[in-house]
Amino acid sequence: MKRFATRLTAALSLSAMAATAMAAEVNVYSSRHYDTDDALYAKFTEETGIEVNRIEGKADELMARIEAEGANSPADVFIAVDAGRMFRAADAGMLQAVDSDVLSTKIPAHIRHPENLWFGVSQRARVIFYSKDRVENPPQTYEELTDEKWKDSICIRTSSNIYNLSLLASIIHADGEEAAKEWAAGVNANLARAPQGGDTDQLRGIISGECDLAVSNHYYYLRGFDQDIEGLTAEIDQLGWVWPNQSDRGVHMNVTGVGMLANAPNTDEAKALMEFFTSEFAQRHFAEQNNEYPAVPGIPLDDDTARMGYFIIDNDTPTEVYGSNAARAQAIFNEVNFP
Ligand code: FE
Repeated sequence: MKRFATRLTAALSLSAMAATAMAAEVNVYSSRHYDTDDALYAKFTEETGIEVNRIEGKADELMARIEAEGANSPADVFIAVDAGRMFRAADAGMLQAVDSDVLSTKIPAHIRHPENLWFGVSQRARVIFYSKDRVENPPQTYEELTDEKWKDSICIRTSSNIYNLSLLASIIHADGEEAAKEWAAGVNANLARAPQGGDTDQLRGIISGECDLAVSNHYYYLRGFDQDIEGLTAEIDQLGWVWPNQSDRGVHMNVTGVGMLANAPNTDEAKALMEFFTSEFAQRHFAEQNNEYPAVPGIPLDDDTARMGYFIIDNDTPTEVYGSNAARAQAIFNEVNFP
């Protein structure tokens, strides 16, 4: 009896050791980092038993690290907050296609790579803001920003900023290269000041009176309600916004994207995590933590995000072109000496 018990104990501890050695895990390299992400990954671990190890940093640094680690990289999943960087990762051969019915059914085609190298998991809108006091009839399209009546009016960040590169890339796709060049030159001619700071600074410029119009992603505005942001929150009522291009292609949207790395050691676990990102829990998490819009259709908006109302998005332009047109977009900005 004793002998049997001993053997059983030995057998148990062996399988426990095997389980430890084989513990299911997935390694995430993410340039998206919020304090609330812990709850997201804890939920995934609770549902699947798969542990999540996260390395966070700037997208370019993470990509350099993955390249340096090469075939030995432990990275399974890469997350970046714009399609342009997902394109760069795919272009560098760092990503592998993920064949998943869940991902290709739930994520709309225009916000995923045509060969499933990456998938958008949340969306952010590029919006035209204006001073309610000083602007009666704000521009209704991105194209109207070039109207000479907006001379000395527009605040927008620099042309090297990836949000602006993606916007111009989408204009190249929608209007053609010649028109895109005229657009860049026209906006440049209407700048209120040399581009400076981030999107929040463009909104602040309206409140300080330096700019009548500002181009910013939508969540920088919504953040002004959630947090007490200097130069923004106290006088946020001065800001109006326009959802651009509602009578044609719709609002330019960017995405947070996820992809599986070419050398991922834990492909099953990585796929499980990527599929989990399309669940209602994860979709709401991604959207609500930064007031973004869910990628999966039909997920309800939280009250804070719904504050800006509903609008038509540009889903004619595949997000992929933000990357494939990015070099051309930068060349155009340079040609017109856009700062
Ligand atoms: Fe941002």
